[in-house]
Amino acid sequence: MTSNIDTAAVAPSAEAALPKRTWHYLASPASFELAPCACGNHETQWSEFAKHLWCAKCELDFVPAHNGVFDGPIPVKAALMLGMSFDRMNLETGCVERFDADTSTYTPEPARTAPEPSPT
Ligand SMILES: [Zn+2]
Repeated sequence: MTSNIDTAAVAPSAEAALPKRTWHYLASPASFELAPCACGNHETQWSEFAKHLWCAKCELDFVPAHNGVFDGPIPVKAALMLGMSFDRMNLETGCVERFDADTSTYTPEPARTAPEPSPT
């Protein structure tokens, strides 16, 4: 059995190759019933990495064991009636985007301080 594949190429810096999140919900992962950290902490945050959460206690990005309400079909209007919010923060624009359940679209809110166009 010969293998020239260098499996050690998956280096500790592999984290840098993870796709970054471009937006996250304003509501916390716990409000969507995503699985807690393995340490038992339910008060996790959206990680900067896609599909990951951040545990401040462990200072660790992790993939939750399940994705709570997102694992099944979401009855959106029922979820909204239950107080769930799908509004989100666009990390590329810094704008809050409000969810419209009637059209299933997001509408960006104007930024509080619009960036001045750079003269460069
Ligand atoms: Zn933890």
